[in-house]
Amino acid sequence: MFFHVILTDDCNLCCRYCRGKEFDLLLSGDDSSSVDFFMPTELSYNLESLYSFLEKDPEGCLTFYGGEPLMRTDLIREIMDNAPVKRFFIQTNGLLLHELENEYLDRLEAILVSIDGPEEITDLNRGKGTFSRVIENVLKVRREGFDGEIIARMTVTEGTDIYEAVNFLISDPTCQFSSAHWQIDADFSCNCRQEIFESWISGNYMPGIRKLIAEWVLTMERKGYVPRLYPFLQTAEDLLRGENSRLRCGCGYASYTITTDGHICPCPIMIGMKDYYVGHITSADPRNLPVVHMEGSCRVCPIYGFCGGRCLYADVTRPWQAEQKKLICSTVHDLRNTIIAALPAISDLITQGTITMQDFVHTRYNGCEIIP
Ligand code: SF4
Ligand code: SF4
Ligand code: SF4
Repeated sequence: MFFHVILTDDCNLCCRYCRGKEFDLLLSGDDSSSVDFFMPTELSYNLESLYSFLEKDPEGCLTFYGGEPLMRTDLIREIMDNAPVKRFFIQTNGLLLHELENEYLDRLEAILVSIDGPEEITDLNRGKGTFSRVIENVLKVRREGFDGEIIARMTVTEGTDIYEAVNFLISDPTCQFSSAHWQIDADFSCNCRQEIFESWISGNYMPGIRKLIAEWVLTMERKGYVPRLYPFLQTAEDLLRGENSRLRCGCGYASYTITTDGHICPCPIMIGMKDYYVGHITSADPRNLPVVHMEGSCRVCPIYGFCGGRCLYADVTRPWQAEQKKLICSTVHDLRNTIIAALPAISDLITQGTITMQDFVHTRYNGCEIIP
């Protein structure tokens, strides 16, 4: 089982689509989110109870999460030294990566670093100077010998040229990312956004994805490897194997989140949504946690087996009007159609031995959200 452990809610950034927006909502008096405002900001339970909980699961994997988890390097060291777990991951904004010693960094299976593309778009979303500080730290980690996966964890918005942004992070020699995944920021709380969003997905996003998939296959052909672009990698692997998927991030059945007060919820974004808590580390058994099912219209979608429902949090909160959901789903249909169109060429490359099915194998539920 995968567990996101929230070390702190504190963060040293104020990104436009995260805290920047929360503050806007608070200022506008819109407090409709079901956040438990009494949740402690810092991890507040006895770590021995976390270890006793994890001890029951021989397959346990921990992802350090926040806020910004590297603001609590003390806890990271303590947990990595004492938790009965072999596999560790971190999702970080990358600004404090240099503060964790190599002996801990080297034990991380993957480092997921939030970055949105080249400097201009990253700094626009995440604050001036963020890009260069993050890249400097990523290069340092690589230089000092980290050989695990460093995954670019992108949020994409109307300002994003998706083709340029993904290509830059994966191919530019100034970056050292081994993989990427991205999520579309599909917040329509401002009604003015829908029209701009629609024009972006039809004019930039979907054409960019098609171009990226074409180049993804070309790279397989010319270089004999499969670039680790998670939205393509996992979906293509499943289509090649003829397999369907549940919710691809794994939330609520393969991945859970431990809040700062020790409650267990299905997804890191669902902290404080008490109705969806599935237990507490002091009493729950990690091998037998209740499954949180998708309840909404996704269950009858004809491409549910491909998409998996995209996002449990969205299924629960239903943030979109019908037209808006249709727009989001059009990107999933387009992704699926483009991958399916590429399958014959990929199958040929496998038959010829240029690549193998093994090249698609990756760790599932490692924090990549897969369906953008
Ligand atoms: S770094 Fe992450 S947690 Fe911090 S403000 Fe940005 S998106 Fe939110
Ligand atoms: S495409 Fe849309 S409706 Fe279909 S499963 Fe995905 S999110 Fe749900
Ligand atoms: S895709 Fe949705 S359910 Fe999955 S981790 Fe992200 S916010 Fe949570």
